[in-house]
Formats: sequence, C-alpha cells, structure tokens
Amino acid sequence: MSRRIALLIAVLCVALAPLLLSPFHVTVANYIGLASLIVLGLVLIGGHGGLMSFGQAAFAGIGAYTTAYLTTAYHVSPWLTLLLGLVLTLIAAFVLGVLTLRLSGHYLPFGTLAWSISLYYVFANVEALGQHSGLSNLPVLSIGPISFGENWAYFYLIWAAVLLALISIQNILQSRFGRAVRSGGRNTPMAEAFGIDTARVGLQIFLYAALLASLSGWLYAHFLRFVNPSPFGLVPSIEYFFMTVIGGAVSVWGAIAGATIYTLLKQGLQTVTPLLVGQTGQFEIIVFGIMIILLMQYARSGVVPTIARRLTHHETIPVPQTAEPLPRRARPAAGEVMLTLEAVRRQFGGLTAVNDVSFDIKAGEIVALIGPNGAGKSTLFNVVTGVLKPTRGDVRFRGDVISGLRSRDILKRGIARTFQHVLLRPHMSVLENVALGAHVRGRQGIVAAALRLDRAEEGRLLREAANQIDRVGLSQWRDTPAESLALGQQRIVEIARALAADPLLLLLDEPAAGLRYEEKRQLAAVLRGVRDDGVTLLLVEHDMEFVMGLADRIVVMEFGQKIAEGTPAEIQANPKVIEAYLGGVE
Ligand code: ADP
Ligand code: MG
Repeated sequence: MSRRIALLIAVLCVALAPLLLSPFHVTVANYIGLASLIVLGLVLIGGHGGLMSFGQAAFAGIGAYTTAYLTTAYHVSPWLTLLLGLVLTLIAAFVLGVLTLRLSGHYLPFGTLAWSISLYYVFANVEALGQHSGLSNLPVLSIGPISFGENWAYFYLIWAAVLLALISIQNILQSRFGRAVRSGGRNTPMAEAFGIDTARVGLQIFLYAALLASLSGWLYAHFLRFVNPSPFGLVPSIEYFFMTVIGGAVSVWGAIAGATIYTLLKQGLQTVTPLLVGQTGQFEIIVFGIMIILLMQYARSGVVPTIARRLTHHETIPVPQTAEPLPRRARPAAGEVMLTLEAVRRQFGGLTAVNDVSFDIKAGEIVALIGPNGAGKSTLFNVVTGVLKPTRGDVRFRGDVISGLRSRDILKRGIARTFQHVLLRPHMSVLENVALGAHVRGRQGIVAAALRLDRAEEGRLLREAANQIDRVGLSQWRDTPAESLALGQQRIVEIARALAADPLLLLLDEPAAGLRYEEKRQLAAVLRGVRDDGVTLLLVEHDMEFVMGLADRIVVMEFGQKIAEGTPAEIQANPKVIEAYLGGVE
C-alpha cells in the first residue's frame, strides 16, 4: 500500500512540476531525470546485485551516438534509432558481461572501466562521429502531432521513462528473480546451493541497466539536439556512481534523490567554489570526493535509507492464502538407497579432511554424523552438495553419480542443505529468505517480473515459503528481517528454506546449535515430522542427547576417517567412540 501511495505522490509531483518550476529549473529537472535512469540501473546491479559498473556513461554514449549519427547523416526516424541503439547496447553489454561476470571479484569494475575509456576515444576520434566537436542538429522528437520541442514537454517524456523504469525495478526486486538478484554478491555459495545461476542473473541485470543507460543517452541526445564525447567518458560514469552512493544504492527512490542531490549540489558548487578558490576549475569533484568519504563514515547506507529507516517500518509482503500448492516430488519407496559414499576423499593441500569415507543412507532414515571439531563433517557435506569436489571416490544419489555436478544441479535432483555458518540474507525477511529455497520450483524471470506477469507463480512460491515457516514454528517471525532473530532461530530459518526446495534428502549442519532445551525438543519433533513426510535426513550435531533420541543410525568420524557406524545403542557402547569422542566430551 505504502508503495502505491509513494508512486501516486511521485506521479502528482511529475504532473505538476512543469507548472510550478521556472523554465530553468525544468531544464535542471530534465538532467536529473536523465541521470536517474542511469542511477536506477546502478541501484539494481550495484545496490542489489553486488556488481559495480563504471561503464554506464559509455552505454548512454551508444544510445546517444547511434541516434545522432543516423538521424543527421541518413535522416532515419529517431524512434527507429532508439531501437537500434538499444540493440547495439545489448550486444556490447552482453559481450562485456560474458567476458567479465563469470570471473569473480573485480573483473566487472575493471572491465567496464576499460570499456568506458576505450569507447570515449572511439567517440572522440572517429571522423564520422564528429570527433571532439561532436554531431549537431539532431531532429526534435515527435509522435504524430505531438512535438517534444519544448522543455516542459520533454520533461514529461523523460520523467515518464524514469517512473516506468522505477516501477519495473520495484517489480523486479519483489519477485523470484529479484530474490535471486539479492542473494548474489558475496553469498554466491548459498545462492548456487539453492539453484540460482548467479552469473546468469548478474548478466541479466547488467543488460537491463545498460539498456536504461542507452535510453537515457538517446533522450539526452534529442533533448540537447547535440552530442559530443564528454558526457560519455569515465568521469560521468564515476559521477553516476557518486549519485548511487548518495542515494543509498538499495533504494529506487534513493536513485532519484541521489541524482537530484548530486546535480543540484554540483550546480551550486560550480558557482560557489570558483569564488572561494579564486580561479575556475572542476573543484566540485574534490568536494564530492570528500563527501563520499564522509558518507561512507557516517551514513554508509546512503542518505535516503538513513532517513527512511527513521520514518518507516519494514513493509510486509502479503501471502495469498488461496494460492495453489506447488507440486511435490514423488516420495521414494521405503528402504531405497538414497545416498551412497564410496571411498570419498577430500584433501586440502597436505591435509586430508575426509579420508576414504564410505557409508549409505536409506529412504526414511535419520542418520547422524558425529565427531570432534575438525573431523571433516562439514567438508563431507560440502562434497555431497557439490560445493567441493571430492579428490577421490564417488557420491551417488539414488544410484547416479553426483560428485562433480554443480551445487544447483545437485539441488535439482533433490538434495537440500543448511550451513553450519548461517548463510541468510540478513536484511531480507524470514519469508523472503525461505522463498529463496523455493526458487528452483519456479520459472518466471526478469521480463515477467518487470511486467508483473509473474504474480500467480509468485503467490504459490510465497505460500510454500509461509507453509514451511509455519511448519518449523517461526510463524510469528515471518516478516522480521533475518538478522533480528537469535542465531539458533536463524538455523531453523535455514531448515525452512531447505524444505521449501522440496528435497528428498536433507542435510543439516548442526541444526540445534544455539537452541535452548525446549527449542531442541521442538526441533526434534519437527524433524521427525519431516522424516514421516518422506524426507531422508543426514545431520551433524554435537548435542548427544539430541542425537541419541532422534537418529536411527549414527556414523562417527575422527580425523577425516569413519571410525564407527551403528544404532545409537551400539555407538554408545562402542569403546573406540567412547575413547575418541564421547569420553572426551562428557
Ligand atoms: P568439522 O565440520 O567436522 O568440524 P571440517 O570439515 O569443517 O570439520 O574441517 C575438517 C578439516 O578440514 C579441518 O582441519 C579444517 O581446518 C579443514 N578445512 C575445512 N575446510 C577447509 C578449506 N576450505 N581449506 C582448507 N582446509 C579446510
Ligand atoms: Mg563443521
């Protein structure tokens, strides 16, 4: 609801602005709108996707130069050149993205930096593009009888584009695809474990941000009716980065606020600083540099979120009660062998963390994996779930070798997990975190999300997430940001998220750590319920009372090796285990 009200106010402001503002300020507002389009893209890729691009001005340059060249040299319709510019941008961004996004870390910022600098020199040196003096006399935009020659008319064109871009990005962020975007960044192993192809998601948002920049460039070119290289070089790209940081990087409204604050401040500083310094020059850049440093120090999340946090509370996402349930996997026959480890070994340099471990798990069993710290339990989980490849040996799931497959492909076969070191998205609500688990059961992507054609599926995914939250007993925390929960509860959220993926085998790494006695009892009941529902469980746990009361069978590891396997009674009576583990702990 509050989102609709904010939009309504924005539409009203846009509608009234040309009536209230002086012609000069309408022009300023046009520049702000043009920048906002680009910054909105940066909010999507930088603020939410954890990707940073210094090439946005260059993409705007493609949009601007495509139309400038074709409309002046060949009198092509600007609407056609818009399309052509977008296609060219798409191709350039695709090549750049494919080359840099599959590599981790800083390849994208550096790739876009290089791209930005080289394209600038293309604009500045190609004779047909007018070199440094550029191209002029671009045609006025018009649709039929409506001409956009006046600044106020152009204002409506620019700001209609800004509002549509803003709505589309809000839609994208509140969707299955948006959750995938927001799960990326440094959390890649988790995202991959839930079936998300982070490189692909990154590429898609990178393309969308590039298209918005290209559109901005096209609008810019026909607004000024003149282009030259300077607005499309590296410095403007850095300015867009500044605007994004000022606005708060994660907020779509912050994008507009950042563009506005930056543009107005820059204007102010451009008039004031030469008077203070006594000579002309781009002193405002220095002031902005200092501002960014102060911002990072005192309002790291940017101006808008810092203020907004004081004014608003977390928006809750409605879950449609009537959404049809998602289809579930057929349950295996009781006794079917689900997981087989055949002499699995994993080495880290000279250390053998898992040393030729073999055992298997049958459908409907709850198996516990115990052993002292450093025994290799988590490493074994990572090998089974594809986070790590085994150095030697095979892992089979229902007869098929899965070792060597990627995490997301292993998930798709029906193995889900939790992490010993909780990997939730701290700012996302419990509901959204759990819905991430159901990602693999949906299909709708960025386009459907932007156009809001994904609502039926989205409802089913959210319904599933809500059901799993109810199942593990966290209903009252559904709309709370995950970071506000106690660590023990965050582990339970991880269980709900794994269950939302509809697994047949569930791997839990220390699920009861940090829980109080009563909470552990409830967790054991939940896990028995999960087992009765046809899910097989393998869990690592240190609490012996919990393990002995829950597990059908126990595998004991020490120094990477399996030292025992049996029923709880057998394990408790096993002298090797007592010496290696139980004796030491009690
Ligand atoms: P557990 O979960 O049983 O406590 P782990 O599987 O986490 O044990 O660790 C087993 C051994 O492998 C430890 O000695 C640990 O330091 C080492 N280890 C785990 N992961 C890595 C890694 N990524 N690189 C190097 N050593 C690792
Ligand atoms: Mg561990």
